[in-house]
Amino acid sequence: MAEHDVRFLRLQFTDILGKNKNVEVPASQFEKALDGEMMFDGSSIEGFTRIEESDMLLKPDYNTFVIFPDEIEDASRGRVARLICDVTYPDGTPFEGDPRGVLKRQIERLKQLGFDSMSAGPEPEFFLFLRDEEGLPTIETHDQAGYFDLAPIDKGEEARRDMVNVLVDMGFEIEAAHHEVAPGQHEIDFKYADALETADNIATFKFVVKRVALLHGLHATFMPKPIAGINGSGMHTHLSIFKNGENAFYDPKAEYQLSRTALNFIAGLLAHAPGMVAITNPLVNSYKRLTPGYEAPTNIAWSASNRSAMIRIPARRGVGTRAELRMPDPSTNPYLALAVMLAAGLDGIEKDLLPPPSIQRNIFSMTVRERRRHKIKELPGTLREAIVALEKDEVIKEALGEHIYHHFIQAKRLEWEDYRITVHDWELDRYLSEY
Ligand code: GLN
Ligand code: MG
Ligand code: MG
Ligand code: MG
Repeated sequence: MAEHDVRFLRLQFTDILGKNKNVEVPASQFEKALDGEMMFDGSSIEGFTRIEESDMLLKPDYNTFVIFPDEIEDASRGRVARLICDVTYPDGTPFEGDPRGVLKRQIERLKQLGFDSMSAGPEPEFFLFLRDEEGLPTIETHDQAGYFDLAPIDKGEEARRDMVNVLVDMGFEIEAAHHEVAPGQHEIDFKYADALETADNIATFKFVVKRVALLHGLHATFMPKPIAGINGSGMHTHLSIFKNGENAFYDPKAEYQLSRTALNFIAGLLAHAPGMVAITNPLVNSYKRLTPGYEAPTNIAWSASNRSAMIRIPARRGVGTRAELRMPDPSTNPYLALAVMLAAGLDGIEKDLLPPPSIQRNIFSMTVRERRRHKIKELPGTLREAIVALEKDEVIKEALGEHIYHHFIQAKRLEWEDYRITVHDWELDRYLSEY
């Protein structure tokens, strides 16, 4: 840090709802911070602690060290670096309310079952909207481009290129960046990594995207369905697990070349989909994305080919064999999302669950009766249904731990109740003059 004239260090972590939080320390405190001795008041963090036990320590993970590039942090007052931290009690024991700790526990479980790691590759989508004269976000875009369109250069494209440059400077390997289906909608894909690194990357990614958008006078949103009638934003997540250095999903001799481990994992994801969707799709608004006709899944099924299913198996085999989980959206807490995916998959492995036959047809064009014949169930249709399903899923509850489960459910019940008692514009439009 001395070498690069770093004068401020941000100690970063996330709260239960997935918001990035940080404590910034000046150079005089660097040693203390690096030794994991920085104390902070956890009582003011969403769902963290009770007032009487508010002192928490931040233990930095040195692998996450990065200096913010000058484009997003003005270096004239000295450079700014960051470290992602684990949260512990003053005596050093991990704090149960730390989402990063929840993911680490599942990774530990994976290792105890004899595997090396879970790889995760996310495809986060987002909208870029204009701001009004006061700088407040609108839902106006300035382009009408669609999927992969080669549009004349616009503000959104410029902003997206700057996002990619900043992310690359921060050590990301960007695999693709493109316009998505809806006007103003974009996607930036970065290389898969071990689950913990990917969760850290998603947290950093959201911060960079929002920050660069702001510098361009735009607003970036990870809200899943900002505009009715057009595609929402998902965060498809590609998953595979490794054993003895090899992809444990690949079996060249098996049907679809998918190993029993892969089938077990897929079966676990399907079995726990209702229980985990409250975590992977945590907003009232998330369920407005999960509707037919917008490339987002509504049914609990898997497919070796088509994209209407909740799990798709991309064509790659060998080391790239993987399952693409298509229901998560980018408003999710990345640590909790990957933790529940892993917990669900591992439950499938432990119980040797097998999935129903893979569906090769477009599920959206099937009749209700056909879906019933194929035993295709529906994902919860509202946040309320998702909460109820989570309350019934012991495996997912266990993975979250008592503390996070309790605070999460409480926050989401309040969110749902607030939504339920609000009189929305739709109701006025529909009923005010008619009744
Ligand atoms: N936006 C779609 C979703 O909500 C995905 C579109 C795509 O990546 N092909 O999941
Ligand atoms: Mg994609
Ligand atoms: Mg996409
Ligand atoms: Mg995809």
